Amino acid sequence: MSLTPCPNLIGGEWSTPHGASTPVFNPSTGEVIAECPAGGAAEANAAVEAAAAAFPAWRETPAVERARVFFRYRQLIERDFDRLCRIVSREHGKTHAEARGSTYRGIENIEYACGIPSMLFGDTLENLARNVDCETLMQPLGVCAGITPFNFPVMVPLWMYPLAIACGNTFVLKPSEKVPLSAVALGELLAEAGLPKGVFNIVHGGRPAVDALLTHPKVRAVSFVGSSPIAKYIYETGTRNGKRVQANGGAKNYIVVMPDADVPKTVEALSTAAFGCAGERCMAGSTAIAVGAAAERLLPSLVEAARAIKVGPTDREAQPDMGPVITAQHRDRVLSLVDAGEKDGAKVLCDGRGVKIPSAPKGFYVGATVVDKVEDSMTLAKEEVFGPVLNVMRMDDLDHAIEQANRSSFGNGAAIFTRSGGAAREFKHRVKAGMVGINVGVPATMAMFAFTGWDDSFYGDLHIQGREAVQFYTQQKVVTTRWFGEGVGDVWKK
Ligand code: NAD
Repeated sequence: MSLTPCPNLIGGEWSTPHGASTPVFNPSTGEVIAECPAGGAAEANAAVEAAAAAFPAWRETPAVERARVFFRYRQLIERDFDRLCRIVSREHGKTHAEARGSTYRGIENIEYACGIPSMLFGDTLENLARNVDCETLMQPLGVCAGITPFNFPVMVPLWMYPLAIACGNTFVLKPSEKVPLSAVALGELLAEAGLPKGVFNIVHGGRPAVDALLTHPKVRAVSFVGSSPIAKYIYETGTRNGKRVQANGGAKNYIVVMPDADVPKTVEALSTAAFGCAGERCMAGSTAIAVGAAAERLLPSLVEAARAIKVGPTDREAQPDMGPVITAQHRDRVLSLVDAGEKDGAKVLCDGRGVKIPSAPKGFYVGATVVDKVEDSMTLAKEEVFGPVLNVMRMDDLDHAIEQANRSSFGNGAAIFTRSGGAAREFKHRVKAGMVGINVGVPATMAMFAFTGWDDSFYGDLHIQGREAVQFYTQQKVVTTRWFGEGVGDVWKK
């Protein structure tokens, strides 16, 4: 089978550099479908120069005209929606339904960016002092860079560049080398929408490309989404080099189930939260804390629901409930964490470790797994698994459940399932997480709200999405004005 091209986009030109590359897999089959250019420092520098050259003209383009590009872009993505979602399923392994859902979440970010003219209003104060007025202007920064993870190949890049570019910046995207083809398709459509050359650039590669972006003097701001150690590195290196940085990291999200929770609805929400996208999302519900009698009420139907989840290839018409994980190495890591939990004394109630898919024997599969009696001291409890594994912990009361959730070094999401307003209120008030769900298993925020991770789930000050992101991609200028009302040139007294 021929490989899909994976070119860079620099200054409006598509080209594939010679030299080293890394394989891009179809995780459903284990086949190599493309080669992603590796390295990338020289290309990253060239992309920054192209973005810097495009900035003066783009900055002068009125906000309404910038927004119009994104109105057109939205239409083009709708036009090519199925094609785009198939690329996501093929290189990432999401089911078609998951690819569609996450692409819609991405489209909402484009829609948000279309409203940019009314988001760039400044403040004014007349007569700040006698005859003196004051106003604020929100101006673009210049070249911004985005570095994205493998798990949402369309949605996460769309969290970044539509808003950054609508604000008047130019942009260099460094997509994950595991899923670079979705980014190429997104770049082609943005060019078709009429974005001038050089305003949006794509450079593939690994750490050398990232380091070039983090140290290039013309890059003003860096948006990052990925694992916590890399997020921390990006934040420290970027800020040391004088850049604004917003860096989303990993997560370990707790879902507290109270004894009064609606069992069928909670089971449905827990299965979606834990096994949706094969558990490869930063808002996955990875640990259920069953309070008091909740465990006995919940576990039989939860295990039944997990056993019913059909795992299989997502690159063909018939769709499974759950697809593969991203690579063979990642599958092995997930399996080894479950092994470690079992060795530490946890009980595997639904075991996805031995799953075999006869129609795709070389794919990277893990079946839905439920592990009960997980304790805080276990590696399985502490590490982000990023696979279809739901840990269950048992606590006597809500206080202990909240204390357990708050022990995590991460602070992305947390949820509670209950019929009690008092319990829900206590939980939302005390839990240490930036996004909280009440009878909502995946409380990921939509485009108009900031994606508010805390602690090791976020390094920076202004989050991705929403009004905080508009602030991130702009700088304020405060203008103080005085006009002298008398003397020569006093035109209105004639
Ligand atoms: P990753 O950290 O391995 O990679 C993310 C990006 O960083 C990629 O573009 C990669 O090329 C680059 N990178 C990797 N190693 C690097 C290094 N040493 N130096 C510089 N750059 C490097 O993450 P991943 O495995 O692609 O994605 C999964 C992780 O992302 C999970 O931890 C998940 O929780 C997290 N994530 C977080 C959010 C959020 O909003 N908090 C959203 C999605 C994913």
